[in-house]
Amino acid sequence: MKLIFIVLVVVVALLALRAYQRAQRRPPPASAPAESEDMVKCVYCQVNLPRSEALYSGRQFYCCPEHRQRHQQ
Ligand SMILES: [Zn+2]
Repeated sequence: MKLIFIVLVVVVALLALRAYQRAQRRPPPASAPAESEDMVKCVYCQVNLPRSEALYSGRQFYCCPEHRQRHQQ
């Protein structure tokens, strides 16, 4: 009877731990729109990046100010 109780406690503890880890791994709702965000390509190095992180200049997208500068020279 004592053994059953110990096994039960261990199982409940493992289930609780797993549920906790799953909750930790789940991204916060605020970051969800970022996944569906438009991806744009740097015209200089062709790297893809989210539109919000890209620099928009002269109807072109750039990944960083340096590439914008180099491309426009
Ligand atoms: Zn670039």
